[in-house]
Amino acid sequence: MTTLIRIALQKSGRLSEDSYQLFKECGIRFDYGTGKLKSVSSNFPAEFLFLRDDDIPGYVEDGVADLGIVGENVAVESARNVQTVHRLGFSKCRLSIAIPRSESWNSIADLNGKNIATSYPRLLGNYLSEQGVTATIHEISGSVEIAPSIGLAEAVCDIVSSGSTLLSNGLKEVETIFRSEAILIAGSRLNKEHQIILEKLLFRIKAVQAAKN
Ligand code: ATP
Ligand code: ZN
Repeated sequence: MTTLIRIALQKSGRLSEDSYQLFKECGIRFDYGTGKLKSVSSNFPAEFLFLRDDDIPGYVEDGVADLGIVGENVAVESARNVQTVHRLGFSKCRLSIAIPRSESWNSIADLNGKNIATSYPRLLGNYLSEQGVTATIHEISGSVEIAPSIGLAEAVCDIVSSGSTLLSNGLKEVETIFRSEAILIAGSRLNKEHQIILEKLLFRIKAVQAAKN
């Protein structure tokens, strides 16, 4: 039996289309969007798993998948033992602090003693402690931007790309704490055969990227 490398991709979301497109441009064919959880490529020694992005770092750490594509924000927040193999240049976004538009802002020290809602408590906590700020972090999993209007927090820390979601919730971006893009991650236990397949994959990815620049 030939060895397959297992690659975890986001099933459906802001990483999916560009991830599928990348493999297509690499000439690696597989079925997706059929509702199946996995798919073996017809022309490359790879099996693809379709998962929620949040689960991907854990699966890669555990060796259930050998590789994965996730936002760097999710990889870092997960604190899983995975390595960044390559930066992919898509799904670019930033993690920023935002406050109600009507509030004034001088510096990050304005957050001392405040409540901040976020889905990224680790990234935010690290940033605040680097900056010497003491604030209360409220972890919520979705719709973070409504927290100030319902009185849950005075500020939020959330993913921004265009800023239109912030604007429509009466918020303004005041500080960027992390810049993210999609990354290819690997676990620490790739065997020799997997490493050889990974090298072939990276060679193709780099060729695709070079052709675009
Ligand atoms: P899932 O259902 O798989 O858990 P999700 O809703 O958590 O998905 P998405 O909104 O699809 O996640 O975002 C996936 C990743 O895409 C984010 O972690 C981030 O790295 C990136 N991302 C998020 N928002 C944007 C955006 N507006 N523009 C570009 N990239 C983004
Ligand atoms: Zn998610």
